[in-house]
Amino acid sequence: MTLQTDIDSAAAQLKGRTPQEVLTWALGNYEKISLASSFGAEDVALIDMIAKIKPDAHVFTLDTGRLNAETYEVIAKVQQKYPQIQLRIMFPQAEAVEQMVSEKGINLFYDSVENRKQCCYIRKVEPLGRATKGLDAWITGLRRDQTANRSAMATVELDGDRHIAKINPLIDWSNEDVWAYIHQNDVPYNALHDQNFPSIGCAPCTRAVQAGEDLRAGRWWWEMSNQECGLHVNSDGDLVRAKG
Ligand code: SF4
Repeated sequence: MTLQTDIDSAAAQLKGRTPQEVLTWALGNYEKISLASSFGAEDVALIDMIAKIKPDAHVFTLDTGRLNAETYEVIAKVQQKYPQIQLRIMFPQAEAVEQMVSEKGINLFYDSVENRKQCCYIRKVEPLGRATKGLDAWITGLRRDQTANRSAMATVELDGDRHIAKINPLIDWSNEDVWAYIHQNDVPYNALHDQNFPSIGCAPCTRAVQAGEDLRAGRWWWEMSNQECGLHVNSDGDLVRAKG
């Protein structure tokens, strides 16, 4: 049986199941499995669910070096609340960052899409590759309604680039479902969410959104076309966010 066949079978079996049921299956089925977390709302909800199923489960995050103070604060709160969770914090290669900012400036991403993609590659995509190396499966906080090009996503799917399984337990949840879970379970969350930041990435590349704007309108707003960032789909780069 091929990996694709296995995954298709699992996807059919898990269709309509709750996130907790999907996580219980995934954590029991895969030995080397980790949640990719940017500590956004979906990710902290998943950490709470995972900690209740397997307290010492693995989670990784990408510290790009350009995160908001509020993101470090929620990371610390999560570490305090779930002390058994095995959190791996990935950093970019120092020499690559030094060379990039020395050649192009500390805020090079505002100058061109090419520069922004280079920064995302060095600070996010390359570390993501190291974080997922050797895994059998990774878990994401993706939701189907976040962007149009996620509409075809399934609860379990093949990550064709890495040839491992990708588990999306919240794929059928709405933003309201996520927040109801966070409040009902007293889950620590990034304080920027209370300041109209629905999607949080690096500090210089994220802003608050206005009422009625797309949930991801605050990411790379200066670019004409806000494209998916790449941790999931291409080589641009963002942890668990197809735009950054
Ligand atoms: S989101 Fe901005 S600061 Fe972060 S890696 Fe991408 S370009 Fe660099």
